[in-house]
Amino acid sequence: MSKRDYYEVLGANKGDDAKALKSAYRKLAMKYHPDKNPGDAEAEAHFKEIGEAYSILSDDEKRAAYDRMGHAAFQQGGGNHAGGQGPFAGGGAADFSDIFEQVFGDAFNMANGRRGGRQSGPARGADLRFDLEISLEDAFGGKETTVEVPTAMNCGRCEGKGNEPGTDLETCGTCAGAGRVRRSQGFFTMEQTCPQCGGRGQYVKTPCHDCDGVGRVRENRELSVTIPSGVEDGTRIRLTGEGEAGAQGGPRGDLYIFLSLKEHEIFERDGPNLYCRTPASMVSAALGCSIDVPTIEGGKAEVKMSEGAQTGRRMRLRGKGMPRLRGGPRGDMIVELFVETPRNLCDRQKELLKEFCELSGDNCNPDSAGFFNKVRQFWDDVTTEDGHPHN
Ligand SMILES: [Zn+2]
Ligand SMILES: [Zn+2]
Repeated sequence: MSKRDYYEVLGANKGDDAKALKSAYRKLAMKYHPDKNPGDAEAEAHFKEIGEAYSILSDDEKRAAYDRMGHAAFQQGGGNHAGGQGPFAGGGAADFSDIFEQVFGDAFNMANGRRGGRQSGPARGADLRFDLEISLEDAFGGKETTVEVPTAMNCGRCEGKGNEPGTDLETCGTCAGAGRVRRSQGFFTMEQTCPQCGGRGQYVKTPCHDCDGVGRVRENRELSVTIPSGVEDGTRIRLTGEGEAGAQGGPRGDLYIFLSLKEHEIFERDGPNLYCRTPASMVSAALGCSIDVPTIEGGKAEVKMSEGAQTGRRMRLRGKGMPRLRGGPRGDMIVELFVETPRNLCDRQKELLKEFCELSGDNCNPDSAGFFNKVRQFWDDVTTEDGHPHN
């Protein structure tokens, strides 16, 4: 069976633009539509042929392929003089069932209900984000807390209906309360959602004082949140079904709590580990001593400092860091020492230090001694043979 040329099927010419093709299709589709020709198999076949032709010619890419190769572009396998399969072989022309609705607009329903219009239907509510700042101690121990989340709620005054209590909703005059209106287009009667009342069939004449007739108000909702121990900066907690209410009875969205950690005065966190920079006086560092450092649980731990401890010295307290969100051993606390040079000295103190200095030799300050030896060597090396330094 030979196939008719698509342009011939539509009664169009090869050079016609998209608008002309669409118009040709509309005319023929109405003429051969099965609703206008009940029980007429020939008309139905014709209607399908028109649909197929238009589905190809209304698609720029497919139209170009058809212009180049004819029907061979959409046939599978043999009998194809172009050699092998066309670019759209295996179903390229099959999907034209929706073409009628696309051309005539999918907002319309066929009056006899043979084609159901696309309805928006119940939609899932939006997900909400809520930012919550917590302390390091809360991240350490976990916490039960309540948050106030602003969200859209049904208005309590009008129970979501939108009219002021004691007044009635008015029946829509445009659709007489049906919510849908019919109108004629060509041979068909189309049905569409009433533009006046948005399909409700009624409208608010006296708007509710609280919600201005919307039926919904922004309200803060109190929700309890469990913050597990070990959370980190950026951890998200999902509260399923606590997002915005869905449209038309759709499911609620989710609420995501985004956690951020407040800076701590004493501890700095790095993953599971905690850093604590601890000062020691020059004298304590020189003589050695033990110092009490705070721990995140609120207690203290003793750290021993040996004689002559230097700035930057690190001591590790195993298992005194943060817990891990997914379990496992606690991190460590790392105490980093810095030696504080004494300030605001009185005359007597200065005298003692001068005396101390006179008693001190290179072995008291080996780093200084070593450094200045290197400096002297450096100056010697850059001095030329004639005794003058380089520039
Ligand atoms: Zn209200
Ligand atoms: Zn209406």
